[in-house]
Amino acid sequence: MKRVDERDTMSARAQYKKGSEDYADYYSRNPEKKAIDDSIRQRPNLCSEGTNTYNPLNSPMASCAFEFLEDIRHLSEGKVNPEKVQGNKNIITKRIKGLARKYGAKLVGITELKDYHFYTHRGRLEDFCSLCKNCAFTCPSESISNEPEKESNGHLNWIIEQETCYIRWRQYGTDCGICISSCPFSQQMESIKAVDTFKDNEAVIATVLGEFRKKYGTRPFVPGNPDWLR
Ligand code: SF4
Ligand code: SF4
Repeated sequence: MKRVDERDTMSARAQYKKGSEDYADYYSRNPEKKAIDDSIRQRPNLCSEGTNTYNPLNSPMASCAFEFLEDIRHLSEGKVNPEKVQGNKNIITKRIKGLARKYGAKLVGITELKDYHFYTHRGRLEDFCSLCKNCAFTCPSESISNEPEKESNGHLNWIIEQETCYIRWRQYGTDCGICISSCPFSQQMESIKAVDTFKDNEAVIATVLGEFRKKYGTRPFVPGNPDWLR
């Protein structure tokens, strides 16, 4: 698979400031993206006044999390150690949780990566998505293609228009995620966990989609902020 150049992601592009070295470098190589990116950057930023979800108390808390990551970024920079170190998962878990609590986290959870966490696993793209398309139907900005898959980054895939998607984020003031919450794979469904492969298995796909729609309708309803933020 071709590696993703993170300078092309919308979250990186949104940060390029006019007059900076990054700005000059990026748009000299991608002049076709300059006009749309300039217009996006003029919109209120995520977590800022002027967005749909702005709250003078809660929004700065989210911004702080991003600023904190920026502040500690230097700790993860530098050369990669060529020597492989065998980690002890109990010690690593304890340290990660301890660090998160030191910086103020109240709830910290770490889970083992399971097969059903993988986004493109078990024949899902090949067969499941063709019959489902929940994400494409529920996307408020129609950014997810409802057309047949196209070659993208070395794989057959459905194309997502990252510009129109991100414009919606800047309108909401937060990440949207409607596509993710409307995906059966994000809902811990028992009928998915029990299946080894969806490839050539239309009957099982229909069962999963039936269970999802019975349980959630078009998509799960997410009623505003979690209790601890109200
Ligand atoms: S995050 Fe929202 S706007 Fe973006 S692709 Fe998903 S549903 Fe569409
Ligand atoms: S909602 Fe999930 S399973 Fe359905 S088409 Fe989109 S990515 Fe595929």
